[in-house]
Amino acid sequence: MAVCTFCGNKYPVGTGVTFITKQGVVSHYCSHKCEVNSKTRNPLHLRWTKKYAKRT
Ligand SMILES: [Zn+2]
Repeated sequence: MAVCTFCGNKYPVGTGVTFITKQGVVSHYCSHKCEVNSKTRNPLHLRWTKKYAKRT
């Protein structure tokens, strides 16, 4: 199982998107929704992410 970088949900390997930048930073996304939102939004501000629930 891989963990989504954006929402924190676990998802099966072979699905979702793995994004690697030129700098070598690896990002795992469970869905296109997470991939798109990661470019413009902070996961701490979105209720459907696990990072929102964990924020202090
Ligand atoms: Zn996700």
